[in-house]
Amino acid sequence: MNAVAPLSLAPLLDVQGVNKSFRKPDGDELVVLENVNLSLRPGEIVGLLGRSGSGKSTLLRCIAGLDPPTGGAVNYLGQEVLAPAAGITMVFQSFALFPWLTVLQNVQLGLEALGVPEAEMRRRSLQAIDLIGLDGFESAYPRELSGGMRQRVGFARALVVHPSILLMDEPFSALDVLTAETLRSDFLDLWGEGQLPIKAVLMVTHNIEEAVQMCDRLLIFSTNPGRVVSEIHVDLPQPRHAHDPRFRALIDRVYVEMTVRPAAARSSKAERFPGTGIGTALTHVSSNVLQGLMEAVNEPPYNGKADLPAIAQELHMEVDDLFPAAEALQLLRFAEVEGGDMRLTEAGLQFARDDGDERKKLFARHLITYVPLAAHVRRVLDERSTHSARKSRFADELEDYMSEEAAEETLRTIISWGRYAEVFAYDDSHQAFSLENPV
Ligand code: ADP
Ligand code: MG
Repeated sequence: MNAVAPLSLAPLLDVQGVNKSFRKPDGDELVVLENVNLSLRPGEIVGLLGRSGSGKSTLLRCIAGLDPPTGGAVNYLGQEVLAPAAGITMVFQSFALFPWLTVLQNVQLGLEALGVPEAEMRRRSLQAIDLIGLDGFESAYPRELSGGMRQRVGFARALVVHPSILLMDEPFSALDVLTAETLRSDFLDLWGEGQLPIKAVLMVTHNIEEAVQMCDRLLIFSTNPGRVVSEIHVDLPQPRHAHDPRFRALIDRVYVEMTVRPAAARSSKAERFPGTGIGTALTHVSSNVLQGLMEAVNEPPYNGKADLPAIAQELHMEVDDLFPAAEALQLLRFAEVEGGDMRLTEAGLQFARDDGDERKKLFARHLITYVPLAAHVRRVLDERSTHSARKSRFADELEDYMSEEAAEETLRTIISWGRYAEVFAYDDSHQAFSLENPV
């Protein structure tokens, strides 16, 4: 960034107070983004780090001009973005390449809409293909390419238009670990050498290591609604090494930021839905994962208290697995999470020590006491003479508070936990809860 003259440091992109809500089937509003502010300056790679469902893709679509915000504004080079802007392109998690077109033809598609002359189109496309490491594959068809190479075609298609801003929506997350690593480091090399025809990058990820690896600045995004809650500068030179203590320290810091905020976000949600207590959306975490996590934290060297990055690494859990699991344990009062550490409560320690039946009883007690929806389902079943109730009955209720998908996921979670604890049974074929097995 130091080579850039101060004047050109005016933001390329300025997102001001962006709100976005969707209308739910029942007519209520689902607020996905609330007062999002961010800017992107020339020479920067900025990372947007948040969990799945926090509105990251929605925000990128607003920025790209694909879907207008409900409130606030996106300004690109001082102009409000009201339609797809020529200088902004997007790299997706995976691209829909046309199977009947060659690599070259697929890449050229990026330019066809711009009315670039044929020869120029071919020249630029070959250049982009070459740049992104697909030299020699111009005439190949997508089916002849590996997943990593197909994603490279996607990058070439986005780069061929020479955008100022490249938006990347989890561009490496559909690739296997090694392929993702190669593509990431190739991208960083090209960027570092100034070979990419772009000025700045805004990338969405839920992979903390990837974010610290690639970005100059990280914006931590909260869930429900999506909002930028903190910003972390990554002042490490490239190439960065994951074993560098400074790299590890930054990873720790991101974990701390990400574990502090969701609790705050949850309470604001509770305030918006006071009263019933059943309106808390649950991310699906199976009871097996909860058991495994408590066992791992109880064991040496942790002995009941573990650093989240360490446990994530040991159990191969990513943000989207670990954070929901940590939150579920907090909700169930089996653990407390603070400052990037997870500490088992007395009950959590007891659970880890107990076996089979004792565990189930302890889990059942906490489930009924601390998860209002579980208590509610059980109460309805107890009160009915048939001791059964269709899932749709609860889905309807939950949809007053959350989207249809969130209600479905919340019920899936309750089913997993309730079955494990034998608080109620669930019949998949009839989509109904019952008290058939439980006492
Ligand atoms: P992320 O990319 O962070 O995983 P998304 O932006 O895809 O999150 O989605 C955020 C929330 O917005 C989700 O609850 C999703 O169901 C909802 N959502 C996204 N697009 C739409 C849409 N077109 N209509 C209704 N709800 C939507
Ligand atoms: Mg997304």
